[in-house]
Amino acid sequence: MSVERASRTGGLGGRLATAAGLIAALGLTALAAAPSHRPARGAASVDQARLDHADADGGNWLSYGRTYSEQRFSPLTQIDTHNVGQLGLGWTFETNEGRGAEASPIVVDGVMYVTSAWSVVYALDARTGRQLWSFDPKVNHAVSGWSCCDVVNRGVAVWKGRIYVGTIDGRLVAIDAKTGRKVWDVVTLDQTKPYALTGAPRVAKGLVFIGNGGAEYGVRGFVSAYDAETGKLRWRFYLVPGDPAKGPDHAASDPQMAMARRTWTGSNYWKYGGGGTAWDAIVYDPELDQLYIGTGNGSPWDRKVRSPGGGDNLFLSSIVAVKPETGQYLWHFQETPGEAWDFTATQPLILATLRIRGAARKVLMQAPKNGFFYVLDRTTGKIISGRNFVPMAKASETPKGMPISWAYGLDANGRPLENAEARYMDGPALVAPSGVGAHNWQPMSYSPQTGLVYLPARTTYREYKRYDDFVYRDHLRNAGVTVSKRAYQYGDKDAPPAPPPPPELRSYTKGELLAWDPIAQKPRWRVASPDTQFGGTLATAGGLVFWATSGGHVAAFDAADGRTLWDADAGMTILTAPMTYSVDGVQYVAVMTGASINFPIRTVGLTPKSRVLVFRLGGTAAPLPYPRPDPTPAPPTIEATETELAYGERLFAENCSLCHGPDAMGNGVVPDLRRTPVIQDRDAFRSVLAGALASQGMPNFGKWIRPGEADAIRAYLTAQAGKLYAAEQARK
Ligand code: CA
Repeated sequence: MSVERASRTGGLGGRLATAAGLIAALGLTALAAAPSHRPARGAASVDQARLDHADADGGNWLSYGRTYSEQRFSPLTQIDTHNVGQLGLGWTFETNEGRGAEASPIVVDGVMYVTSAWSVVYALDARTGRQLWSFDPKVNHAVSGWSCCDVVNRGVAVWKGRIYVGTIDGRLVAIDAKTGRKVWDVVTLDQTKPYALTGAPRVAKGLVFIGNGGAEYGVRGFVSAYDAETGKLRWRFYLVPGDPAKGPDHAASDPQMAMARRTWTGSNYWKYGGGGTAWDAIVYDPELDQLYIGTGNGSPWDRKVRSPGGGDNLFLSSIVAVKPETGQYLWHFQETPGEAWDFTATQPLILATLRIRGAARKVLMQAPKNGFFYVLDRTTGKIISGRNFVPMAKASETPKGMPISWAYGLDANGRPLENAEARYMDGPALVAPSGVGAHNWQPMSYSPQTGLVYLPARTTYREYKRYDDFVYRDHLRNAGVTVSKRAYQYGDKDAPPAPPPPPELRSYTKGELLAWDPIAQKPRWRVASPDTQFGGTLATAGGLVFWATSGGHVAAFDAADGRTLWDADAGMTILTAPMTYSVDGVQYVAVMTGASINFPIRTVGLTPKSRVLVFRLGGTAAPLPYPRPDPTPAPPTIEATETELAYGERLFAENCSLCHGPDAMGNGVVPDLRRTPVIQDRDAFRSVLAGALASQGMPNFGKWIRPGEADAIRAYLTAQAGKLYAAEQARK
């Protein structure tokens, strides 16, 4: 029991002759403290003391990773290995937004706070799903044109009666938790630059911490701390150096910028932003009073453009520790020096105390995109151990034609032992993992009971190929690396199949749930997945691991051995992690569904709204049906030569495929261009490419794609539409 809770109960008993007061006065404290008799405290009571004791507050999920340690381990035991098979749907809440969903719901004393696409916040009765309020920050939809990975939001923070949300257009908004009304709203970044903000704010010591994203487009990453009460900026820490001609930033990071600058080369390293954006993990450590920031990839990816003479390029792909109150630098650990593959270190951070070689060590654990599982001593930032959790090998030992691992091991300081060929300096290279990541933002969890980390991992690769003549294109993708024409890791189950990759490469790409022993640095068990797109995990004291598995299922496994104990078909893509809470003595398991533009699983030609699905023992709620897409209209006939079609295909891959799908296999989250009426009309198609829909997030390519090139793309799209149309007709 926390001190705060005890004093509240005492105060009530002293003032009022309530039943609870009488019970307390009679000394029946056990009864008075039982959950169903406890007075509802709500978001107003979420303060430092309550967050510090969140571990023991089993019914609630007070912050992004449940507790400051972000272990995503729940002490709830009502649902366990014996009865989990009786889980059924308790309720469903459908949001109004039909784009990607990546939020972790927060639950405080029976109220759930969850976000959906476009940074919209909902407060729900956690027992029934009844909406209490919603808050729409009315973001600028044009932002979606430079949001690499959809207009998603990973959730809110709660502090002293307020809900904090970061918006996709770069604001931090404080909302009254009772009414859903805005309290304050501050702009956290330069809105003239192609930033996107998707991360959940974190809160500690009266400060709200928030980062940003956008390193594929050309921005400079930083983290800011705002006064939770007033919204005033308290400090900012830049993660890469800026233009030296502009002088110091007058930021908390100023003393470190000289050190960082020495690791960049050339005279223009600041010109394209540099990257290092902290778009996910920002974790407060109450034991050591430190704040850990996971930083992003280089901008552009191609180091030869960014930093032509080489260099580590601090603080790309690093964990940076600072003092929470001031942003003062404490230490850093760089995972991918001279990053060149979109290898972020923004992935979830888990804090724990592990007994290693007889000593209790305060560690920080991360499984970033680059495929190594890191265990750091978080007091110093020094590595304790690191091991690859996906296959890696020396280039000389890699069969010809197979992807080359970017590295094959770590030295004693945790610095990677690289395969030089993987740097794609002298020509394209097939490299593993791909920038999608051996593990991305999908949360992993850690059970102190089993000592295992439950990690959704994948084995992927991609071709990295530089542009010989990189041209920066304002507010467009500026990775400096070509877009793979075939993205083998994605698949559209209803579409005609793309020419398949060679069989050995197909079997190379796979996903799995790993139960990773962070002390021995090896898996204890693994569960294979049929593909590589899935959500995160949750571990519980009921001996369970929940995982949002491939194809929109959510399943429960025995935490000890990986046996599947329960599986439910959510009917829609899940990218989030399940979470659990209890109200009035009933334990619930919640998960958010929703397909994003990047992950076209089970979402062909329709725009499903994201949902919160909540399960409980004996739940019998009927699932809501999903709409089916209309048949594809017959595409126009366009006379085009093979050369024109190939040209259109290449232009599409370079400029359009990131959002509209590889080979134009759109998923319906943004328009499937094979089904859109816009391809019926040449001038309409040209005008869309020239910015007619920019306010809705369709980028303006007017400066870069000439009308004749637009026609080639349209010819290619109609050819793709023709294939889909024919396939649908044949099925009739
Ligand atoms: Ca990136």
